[in-house]
Formats: sequence, structure tokens, C-alpha cells
Amino acid sequence: MRPLTYQRAASVEDALSLAAGSPGSAFLAGGTTEVDLIRAGVSPTEHLVDINGLPLAAVEELPEGGLRFGALARMSDVARLAAVVERYPAISRALLLGASPQLRNMASMGGNLRQRTRCAYLRDGISPCNKREPGSGCSALEGFNRGHAILGTSEHCIATHPSDVAVALAAFDAVVHTVRPDGERAIALDDFFRLPGDTPHLEHPLDPGELIVAIEVPGLPLARRSTYLKLRDRRSYEFALVAVAAALEVEGGVVTGARLAFGGVGTKPWRARRAEALLVGAPAEAASFRRAADAELAAAVVRRHNAFKIELAARAAVRALSELAA
Ligand code: SF4
Repeated sequence: MRPLTYQRAASVEDALSLAAGSPGSAFLAGGTTEVDLIRAGVSPTEHLVDINGLPLAAVEELPEGGLRFGALARMSDVARLAAVVERYPAISRALLLGASPQLRNMASMGGNLRQRTRCAYLRDGISPCNKREPGSGCSALEGFNRGHAILGTSEHCIATHPSDVAVALAAFDAVVHTVRPDGERAIALDDFFRLPGDTPHLEHPLDPGELIVAIEVPGLPLARRSTYLKLRDRRSYEFALVAVAAALEVEGGVVTGARLAFGGVGTKPWRARRAEALLVGAPAEAASFRRAADAELAAAVVRRHNAFKIELAARAAVRALSELAA
């Protein structure tokens, strides 16, 4: 047992001040990640600031058709909203394919973005792991790495980012809004997740005590024709081996707009910009989709057990885009 203290915040300002007043603080929303990590002895948190009483659960309309998800909006509530189902089906689907119904009822949108990798070497608390103990090494490089990343890796960490909804949010240029003692800021989702490089323990650009208050997705007509495909070892309560968020706009048999992002293969939700550039202007057919996916995956670096992900990711992209084209 190690001591852990707890306070409830009454307002956003109160939450910031309670977190600033206690080193080793973490914000507690649904608790579906943080409490696990504390129990496993992996989280350094010493003080929990419970933010569940804050007015951050609303989903609001933005000008020009976008949506603003409060950080405390629960995954299952967001997934079922008509505005999400109709305007961003990939977001709804990604949410519904994540975790289990019980976890989706508890887990918040902000917390989803803060969840940590499921790399077993991080979570066992004893294996060398540069995320848990910088400089100690990466057990996954020569260990069992079937579920690990093939894009965005480094010699210091190959952990896969586990979120589903973050993949769809990455495809749609979402923006994370935060507050900290000196004011507010907006961080593009692609910049919110850092590549591991030689500092894999630094996962986000957030300052200690900085609070996510909302996530915004811009109005995006092409997102109405979007999907999220998740491939995994069992059909529920399992993380992706490969996932694809895709959106497509086709006129006269030619792709006029495309969004593509991969999950399960990257150290962060992987926006496939190279593939998108090749898709636009190409015939809306399987051969073009395969060429674009192959170009994106050409940068993959595989390890002993995860080489299969290249072919699986390419086929998943072709399947998702073909369904949209049809
Ligand atoms: Fe740790 Fe990353 Fe290596 Fe897993 S892949 S053991 S999280 S450094």
C-alpha cells in the first residue's frame, strides 16, 4: 500500500488550484485508466483531483457544422448522439467498438485521449521499460511484440497507442482545448500525441496540472460518408491489431476528397496524409486504394512478431474505402 490522497473540485479554477497545490496530482474522470495504473503500481500519482462535478459533459454545436465535446462527456453518450451518428459516423463507430459497454458508460472523452498504452511490459511493473523508467530499456524490442507498432516507432519504444476514437478524431482534424493557470490553449490532435523518439515517457505536450476541457471537430461534409473498421483477435472488449478511420468523397468515379487514419499500427493515432494525397484525383477503385495504403505503409518498421500488420493494414484500408466508394 502507498498513500493516496483525494479531493473533489467544485469548479475548473478549483481543479487547477488543487492540482497545483499537490505534486504528483492527476485528474480523475471515469477512472477507467488511471485507477488501473495506480493499482498496478505503474502510475506515479499521489493525489487525485476528482473533476466529475465540473460542468464539462455537454456536447455543443459549433458554427459551420462542427461539434464540441465536453471533456467529461461519456463515450457511450457521444456515440449515440444523432449529430454524431449522422455527421461523423466514424466517430460513433469507433466509440462503440472501444472497450466494453460498462467501460464506455464510465469513460470520458478527455480521459480517452489520456489513456496509456497497453504494452504488457509497461504494466507488469518490473520489466525494463523506457516509458515507466526512462533509460531502463525497452523489453518489447526483442520480446513478444505481436501487438506493437510499426509506424512512428523508435529504438526506445514501439508501444501502440490504444485509443479507437482518437483515430477517427485524427482523421477529422480535431482540436483539444485545455486550461492551465496562465490561460487556455488549443492543440491540434496530431500534435497532442508525441512520437516516442528518445523520450517515450513524454506522451503529450500538456504541462503538469493542465486540464483538458473539450475536444472540437470542425464541420466536415465529407465526414458524413465515413466509417471505422477495427480488426482484433476477438469481437468485443479487445484492442485493435489494425483499425482504419476513413472518409471518402467521389464524383464521376474519381476521388475528390479523402481522409484516412490508422489505429493499432502507430505509436500515435496515425493520420495517413501520404495516402490521402495519392487518393485525391485517383479512380475510386480498389487498385488506387491499395496503392495509397502501400505508400503510407512503406515507412513501416517491423519486429519479430508484427510484420503481418503491414498486409493487414493495407487490406483493411482497401476494405473500408471500397465500402465507402460503393
Ligand atoms: Fe515500455 Fe514502450 Fe518498450 Fe513497451 S514498447 S516496454 S511501453 S518502452
